[in-house]
Amino acid sequence: MSYKLLKQITSKINGKIALSFSYQAEDTAALHLLLQCNIKSLEVFTLDTGKLFEECENLHKQTEEFFKISIKRYLPKSDDVKNLENQLGEWGIRESLQNRHLCCHIRKVEPLERALKGKSAWVTGLRAAQSVTRNELKIVEYDEKFNLFKINPLAFWSDDELFDYIKEYNLPLNPLYAKGFKSIGCKPCTRAVNEGEDIRAGRWWWENPEHKECGLHIRGTRG
Ligand code: SF4
Repeated sequence: MSYKLLKQITSKINGKIALSFSYQAEDTAALHLLLQCNIKSLEVFTLDTGKLFEECENLHKQTEEFFKISIKRYLPKSDDVKNLENQLGEWGIRESLQNRHLCCHIRKVEPLERALKGKSAWVTGLRAAQSVTRNELKIVEYDEKFNLFKINPLAFWSDDELFDYIKEYNLPLNPLYAKGFKSIGCKPCTRAVNEGEDIRAGRWWWENPEHKECGLHIRGTRG
C-alpha cells in the first residue's frame, strides 16, 4: 500500500489514531508511511513488557531520534507482575498454554487495552505472510474487541517488499534480524530461526503454529 491510499483511509477516521510499535521492521515501515499522512492526532506506543531484548531498547531511542517522535510506553501493572512471577517462576510460561497466555495477558493485553482506550483507529504492521493465524488479514477491519478500526497497511506485503522498503528509505532496523531472528517479541519467548524455517518459527517455538498469538490480534472482525 502507498502512503496516498493510507492517507485516504486515515482521513476518514474521526478521532485519535494509534500505531503500535513492537520493534519489528513492519512497524517501522508502517510508521514511515503513517508519518506522511499528516494525521492530526496520532499516538505511537509500545507495550513495554519488562522482557524486551536490549536491542529493542536501543532501537526505541534510535527510532525516536530518526523520526523525531516520542514512543509512549505502556507497562503492565506491577502488582499483577509480582503475582505472576510468584505463581509461575521464571519458566512457568513454557509449562502450559494457559500459563503463557496468562503472562501475555498481564504484560501485553491489559496494557494494550489501556493504550487503545479512547482511540478511533489502530494501525498495525501485521502481514498475512507472517503466519497461518494471519492469512485472512484485511487492510481495514473492524476490531470488535477494542471497538475501533484496525488498519493493516502492510497486509499484503511480501518479505522482499518489506525489506526493500526499509533499505530504500534507510530506516532503522533491529539488529536482531542480522542475528537470525525473523519475528521479534519478548526475550524468553523468541529465538533465531534457521534458513528455511517459517518466519514465526522462533516465537513460542514449543507450541503448535495455530496457537502462536499473544491475544493482541484476535480475529472476529467485520469490514
Ligand atoms: S511473549 Fe512471553 S514473556 Fe512476553 S508477555 Fe507473552 S509469555 Fe510473557
